[in-house]
Amino acid sequence: MENNFDVIIIGGGPGGYVCAIRSAQLGLKTACVESRGALGGTCLNVGCIPSKSLLNLSENYHKAKKEFSNQGIEFSDIKLNIDKMMSNKNKSIQVLTKGVEFLFKKNKVTYLKGKGVVFSETDVVVYENGKKNSYKTKNIVIATGSSPTSLPGIEIDEKDIVSSTGALSFSTIPKDLVVIGGGYIGLEMGSVWSRLGSKVTVIEYLDFITPGMDREISNEFKKILIKQGINFKLNNKVNAVKKLNNKVVVEFTDNQTSKKEKFECDKVLISVGRKPYTEGLNLSKIGVKKDEKGRIKVNEKLQTSVKNIYAIGDVINGPMLAHKAEEEGIAVAEILAGQAGHVNYDVIPGVIYTSPEVATVGKTEEELKLEKKAYKVGKFPFLANSRAKVNNETDGFVKILADSKTDKVLGVHIIGPHCGDMIAEMALAMEFGASAEDIARTCHAHPTHTEAIKEAALAVDKRPIHF
Ligand SMILES: Cc1cc2nc3c(=O)[nH]c(=O)nc-3n(C[C@H](O)[C@H](O)[C@H](O)COP(=O)(O)OP(=O)(O)OC[C@H]3O[C@@H](n4cnc5c(N)ncnc54)[C@H](O)[C@@H]3O)c2cc1C
Repeated sequence: MENNFDVIIIGGGPGGYVCAIRSAQLGLKTACVESRGALGGTCLNVGCIPSKSLLNLSENYHKAKKEFSNQGIEFSDIKLNIDKMMSNKNKSIQVLTKGVEFLFKKNKVTYLKGKGVVFSETDVVVYENGKKNSYKTKNIVIATGSSPTSLPGIEIDEKDIVSSTGALSFSTIPKDLVVIGGGYIGLEMGSVWSRLGSKVTVIEYLDFITPGMDREISNEFKKILIKQGINFKLNNKVNAVKKLNNKVVVEFTDNQTSKKEKFECDKVLISVGRKPYTEGLNLSKIGVKKDEKGRIKVNEKLQTSVKNIYAIGDVINGPMLAHKAEEEGIAVAEILAGQAGHVNYDVIPGVIYTSPEVATVGKTEEELKLEKKAYKVGKFPFLANSRAKVNNETDGFVKILADSKTDKVLGVHIIGPHCGDMIAEMALAMEFGASAEDIARTCHAHPTHTEAIKEAALAVDKRPIHF
């Protein structure tokens, strides 16, 4: 086997595998090391893909059970087969991870199975089943991703006290599920189990959910989730999570009143964030520096403190999102091939795949206020969108923020049906420096949800047609 490469990428997640494919496309002799036994990283194995599979399946079940009969579609008996649902999810994962393996073969990327260790700036050692293989390389890319964090003193056992990984594989429906943390992962998983029949309570330290999101959207999102049956305990600090007989007890304190409460449940999902994963890479020995949060420090070319070692994805600063990791993977490959690789961090969309979805790109209103930027707001509710109306999906609205002077779009925030797909139009518009007027003058097909975007753009100039 070849043991001399132009680039070795450690980690086969969306950052690493995309970087590997692009590097090989550009003629670099490329290897990718992955230790989990399957390519695709957190995203394909225990992240984006399995969660979206369960979100889709649970939404179908919920609609069939609660909504279809009102629409004239009647069933005599609807049953939930959780084993079949899980095997459907697992099949999707398998097909997609094998697909990445196929892409490696097609692009002539060498797939090194095992744990990669950076021995020196030009040597990578791969350990697998007690065997050790050494490789020489001109460049190294660290793409080792992230792992879930817990709270002090709370141990995740992935059975009763779980991270998102455990919550993707419950074999029965928990009667009571407590989700600690009101971020997107907790709310997506909470929605899945709520739709399948769990009573879900979200305990969040802050007095709002989805930190970092435009607050108006976040407040609307909370209202919709409450309407769907999710219970929130905001502004509460979890002190302990204890197992007691077959139950789990969560102890928490109200930040305002200092009132202490206990909550007994079947399962607890800890979703309080993720931390960069760099264990066993030997980075400090070879001089790769990290910041106070354990993220690998990189410059604007994604280069670490060691010149020929790069880092991308969840292991560095920025939103922990698969598409951000992919963009960085492509940028590094292009930089290594002598091109001008670049990531526009101002235009990274974020989507929460609940029902309705939430999708955002660019600045929030709170950020613009902090920057003292003068801006205009255009909003349009899905209640006034004909397609949303006929489909009985009228919750939510589109909000466009544009520069007061230039009309340039600065941020778009949507809560509503299919907005996870709709946000791509706004990301493209922002990449091209579009104004609200540009969007308002673009013909949008009727009847589509995207007409709500056009109307919100018109509303920036106070001239929506249908509202
Ligand atoms: C439940 C959940 C849902 C999510 N949903 C979304 C979503 O809908 N959209 C979205 O954009 N993002 C989502 N994310 C986040 C997304 O999964 C991550 O941002 C993305 O996977 C990061 O990619 P990465 O390549 O940096 O790292 P990872 O995907 O974590 O991949 C890193 C890989 O490196 C391997 N590795 C680590 N150390 C070594 C070593 N020494 N040697 C060899 N291999 C090693 C690991 O095994 C892993 O496979 C979700 C995450 C979770 C947990």
